[in-house]
Amino acid sequence: MANVTLDADRVEALSGTLTGGVLQFGDLYEEARRVHNGLVDRHPALIARCHGTADIVDSVRFARESGLEISVRGGGHNVAGRAVCEGGLMIDLSPMKGIRVDPSARTLRAQPGVIWRELNREAALHGLATTGGLISTTGIAGYTLGGGLGWLMSKVGLASDNLLGVELVTATGDVLDVTEEANPDLMWALRGGGGNFGIAASFEYRLHPLETIFGGLVAHPFEKAKEVLTFVRDFAPTLSDEAGIAAGLVHAPDGSGMKLAAYLLFHAGEIEQAQAEFEPALSFGPPIVTEVGPMPYPVMNTLLDDGYPRGALNYWKSTFISSLDDELIDSLAGAFAEVPSPMTAILFEYFHGAVTRVGPTETAVPHREESFNVLIPAEWVDPADTQANIDWTQETFALLEPYRAGRRWLNYLDDDDALDAVRAAYGPNYDRLAQIKRQYDPDNVFHLNHNIVPA
Ligand SMILES: Cc1cc2nc3c(=O)[nH]c(=O)nc-3n(C[C@H](O)[C@H](O)[C@H](O)COP(=O)(O)OP(=O)(O)OC[C@H]3O[C@@H](n4cnc5c(N)ncnc54)[C@H](O)[C@@H]3O)c2cc1C
Repeated sequence: MANVTLDADRVEALSGTLTGGVLQFGDLYEEARRVHNGLVDRHPALIARCHGTADIVDSVRFARESGLEISVRGGGHNVAGRAVCEGGLMIDLSPMKGIRVDPSARTLRAQPGVIWRELNREAALHGLATTGGLISTTGIAGYTLGGGLGWLMSKVGLASDNLLGVELVTATGDVLDVTEEANPDLMWALRGGGGNFGIAASFEYRLHPLETIFGGLVAHPFEKAKEVLTFVRDFAPTLSDEAGIAAGLVHAPDGSGMKLAAYLLFHAGEIEQAQAEFEPALSFGPPIVTEVGPMPYPVMNTLLDDGYPRGALNYWKSTFISSLDDELIDSLAGAFAEVPSPMTAILFEYFHGAVTRVGPTETAVPHREESFNVLIPAEWVDPADTQANIDWTQETFALLEPYRAGRRWLNYLDDDDALDAVRAAYGPNYDRLAQIKRQYDPDNVFHLNHNIVPA
């Protein structure tokens, strides 16, 4: 976008108004402009540190009056790095950490700087939970607006299916209390339409009783990759709503670089029921590692955290597939044998149960078929390795081409995923979303996201 000359007096006035002030340079600025993906290296002209809804309103109005592009940062986890802009105003919500549980109503309201680790802890105090990220450091904000898949989706649906209300700051700086009753169209769009319609100042979720779950990791030698993935393909469709499975071609977490064919198991029912249901998965093999047992739900969502350190360089590709046939398993195992980074994985996330019983146009998330979503989250640390890792990821993603179901998971899209990928993420809902976008953001003020162009 065109360079904007900032009026120093007005910047100072904004800085004096915002609870957390405005950052333009210095250590705090450097820290705040950095996001999870170390490949993202943009320099906003200003970073507005928001602590409340009024701070967001003033920031939006300031940006519009100054002609500054707006980016919005929740947890800063998005691999595409759209939370940070070059030369514009980054509205940084990470200081907004409020969480309030209403145990009798089984609801929770949280501000957009909250990450899943924090939300899960507060809900667990009351023996409650909702669907959240597989990694505890992911922000609730971008995650929920993008649909939000997680272990509980087969039992209670996506995070966005459990979203009851949003306090939303619109492109005009108005504050709306969005609920199904008050604004049915807008609420529909916020359940998976991304950050297109305004800035969420708080989210209200439905919670569910849940304390101890049964789950963990089972790992086999990489040489058994074909057998393991074939087993998971045939076993996953037998699972009840209480159970979930995600398979992966991964590396041992001990830094040895040893390749493994593994699966993670999750069960939200009674322990005896979990053990019986998972018996085939526990006895298959034999595995070389079985670390499975009862644990608090929040702990399950930290098991993979160490594999996704902040600042690592990331390039991701993903797609839902129509079938996981033997040929595809062969070719992905072959590609993984040549993977250039010992941090990279190929993951297979299985959708079934409650998430698939919501109609594809009932919310903005259309991905409601029983199927695998294949994610290739490439990660490395040395910038000299960047091209080799991107090349490998693109070549491996190309192997999926004949199997692609034409549907993409919005939250996993990367910076170079263009309009066709965005269309594949919103599917049949794109046109209705574009109509709602025209109503609430006709000038496309909020366009640094996986953008829906106003109709
Ligand atoms: C290690 C890792 C694990 C992940 N695991 C999962 C997973 O299990 N399931 C899943 O579905 N996804 C997962 N994701 C993807 C993740 O959900 C998205 O990256 C999501 O955008 C993260 O939310 P955030 O608030 O941290 O993002 P940010 O990077 O802060 O924001 C991303 C975008 O969301 C929008 N946004 C953020 N906050 C607001 C707000 N308050 N109001 C309006 N718009 C806003 C903006 O457009 C922004 O550019 C994972 C990502 C990583 C890196």
